[in-house]
Amino acid sequence: MNKRVLAVIMGVAAVALIALNVFLMFTLFSPKASDAVVPATTANNVETKANEPEAPKYPYIAGLDIPVLMYHEVNDQGITDDANNIPVENFEKHLQYFRDNGYTTITMKQLDEYLNNKVGIPEKSVVLTFDDGLYSMKTLVLPLLKKYDMRALTFVIGEYADERKPGHLNPEEVQELKESGYVEVASHSYGLHKAGSDGQGLITTLDRDGIIEDMKHMQDMLGTEYFCYPFGHYNDEAESAIKEAGYHLAFTVEHGIVNESMDYFALPRMRVSSSMEIPPVD
Ligand SMILES: [Zn+2]
Repeated sequence: MNKRVLAVIMGVAAVALIALNVFLMFTLFSPKASDAVVPATTANNVETKANEPEAPKYPYIAGLDIPVLMYHEVNDQGITDDANNIPVENFEKHLQYFRDNGYTTITMKQLDEYLNNKVGIPEKSVVLTFDDGLYSMKTLVLPLLKKYDMRALTFVIGEYADERKPGHLNPEEVQELKESGYVEVASHSYGLHKAGSDGQGLITTLDRDGIIEDMKHMQDMLGTEYFCYPFGHYNDEAESAIKEAGYHLAFTVEHGIVNESMDYFALPRMRVSSSMEIPPVD
């Protein structure tokens, strides 16, 4: 064997050794490095999913105007003679309007946090409320909320749900909507959606203890901190009783856009009429 051939063999052997080293480096260390990365990424993903219902954080901006819209019934029969009963096509146009004009349908919880704790919300926020806990929440409203990834709230009348009154959500359906993550449920009273002795909403003539008892009943039933006065009727005594019962916000049917400077136990709303193709946000 001459020296030249020996040198070539030695050279090949050296290259092979280096190659083996490189191979070992990759097989021994690289997987460890990627092992360390992969589970962390997975953990982050899991965490993000678990926190999905929580809204992203926004800077706090003082003095925002937040329209709280007041819907009632939604139907698939077109315009009827009930101005509160909106065709589902018009409701969908409202959701498209919010999407196309940069509005975020925030939850009542977010509005509460903004007003009471100065937690930021999107600059163009709107809250969708539906009075009376009607069955159309489940059949017509929820599918569209899912389609556009938007949120709404319904003010449930507790005794109507328990009585399984036709046209209204029963307790199982209320729970189903709540668990969907798209619909919050709040109180329209348990048993005060009726007239009192003076023809006004019962809450205005009921004694303080009676009001507090009704409010607490709904807290137990729904776990809510939000209330809407039946027929929009209220007085100072009702306001303070609701506050004492532990509620955070209460709504009337008076016309106006919510702002931090207002009485949080008599907040106005924007009434939606059946023929509106553009939502009343200003
Ligand atoms: Zn009502």
